Amino acid sequence: MLSWRSVILLLTTARILSTNDPSTDEIPLAEAAGAAGLNGSELAEAKRYGRLELSCTLIDKAIDAAYLAVAALLLAHPLDNWLQQLSPPLKEIWTLRLTALFLIVTAGHVAVSFGLSFYSGHVLEHKFQLSNQTFGQWLWRYAKRMTLSVALSLCVILGLYWLIWTLGHWWWLAAAGAFFVVSVVLGQLAPVLILPLFYRIEKLDRPELTDRISRLAAGTGLSIAGVYRMDLSAETVRANAMLAGLGRTRRVLLGDTLLDGFQPEEIEVIFAHEIGHHVYRHVLKIMLGGLFYSAIGFLACDRLLAAWVSRHGSPIDYAQLPVYSLPLMLFILTMLAMLFEPLQNALSRHFERQADSYALRRTGLNDAYRSAFRKLAKLNKDDPTPHWLDVVLFHSHPPIAQRLAMADAGREGDL
Ligand SMILES: [Zn+2]
Repeated sequence: MLSWRSVILLLTTARILSTNDPSTDEIPLAEAAGAAGLNGSELAEAKRYGRLELSCTLIDKAIDAAYLAVAALLLAHPLDNWLQQLSPPLKEIWTLRLTALFLIVTAGHVAVSFGLSFYSGHVLEHKFQLSNQTFGQWLWRYAKRMTLSVALSLCVILGLYWLIWTLGHWWWLAAAGAFFVVSVVLGQLAPVLILPLFYRIEKLDRPELTDRISRLAAGTGLSIAGVYRMDLSAETVRANAMLAGLGRTRRVLLGDTLLDGFQPEEIEVIFAHEIGHHVYRHVLKIMLGGLFYSAIGFLACDRLLAAWVSRHGSPIDYAQLPVYSLPLMLFILTMLAMLFEPLQNALSRHFERQADSYALRRTGLNDAYRSAFRKLAKLNKDDPTPHWLDVVLFHSHPPIAQRLAMADAGREGDL
């Protein structure tokens, strides 16, 4: 399934670290350990964790592709026929049948992928002492995320089919525009409505940090009133920070794990990194990138759907596009999203480097920057030097070793 939770996060936040970056290895241990201040066994553990996470990511994508292919080619038609026979309203009202088919396909998808979600989200996190959650707490959060994701996906699907049935040929262009509008609305709502569903968020109350934060925020359009503490520790031991929201809901969220475990100068550098995202307008740029990708993606989807519907000779009739095309639509959109992921990640890594460079220039705290990233690597068990292919395909943030090298370059005066 298209993970709308990750879509929301991707569209609406810019974090200091990616939260679920898988990693792999093949770099001399001593060299990498030195780079991130990890000892041999810490580095080996980070690499082991990275390999398992990468395996989970690959298996998850394989399950998505296989399940949706089976649903599209084998299950869609019989399920649609069954629904039509079930009751007259389902036969007459296409929107109702589309909703029913979507919910059945999604329930099947949750059923086939639950085991892996449980392993990667709960078992693996405990195995590496990264989680603070009991099984019940994990399950509750999983249920909330799924409900939100299914509700949003259903709205998107109903909107797409409505555009196809009413606009016909140009639906893809309208869909890209609508997707952009939805991302702006979600961007504004994320910090005030969506994030509080998962984390307790309160105003930052740390007088000793106020001066540093006010100084850095001065002249950027962001105020101390826009800085919040987020209780990440309810879920994880990992530290993180993020910039979220748009316009009046724009804010910097600092994890309690970061605020409680890091020195003021380290927090200052990390805050400056988030200010960098704000100053360079990265959230807006990611959304504009999303507009571009979605226009190309929906156009490709249109061409593939047309080719499939007209494979027996008669051209596609948009007003009559059958309900049972839904799983195929989900399959195509999921495949396109996988195809675009490396491009979006490349853009994201570029923005992260810009924000890192900004933080170093703005604060001049190269030593605090270095110690902050070493702490983050240690706490989050981040592999400092993952395989380049892993980075290209799946990493939204540069490897820690590269980020540390920026501070060294800065010391030589060429940042
Ligand atoms: Zn960042």
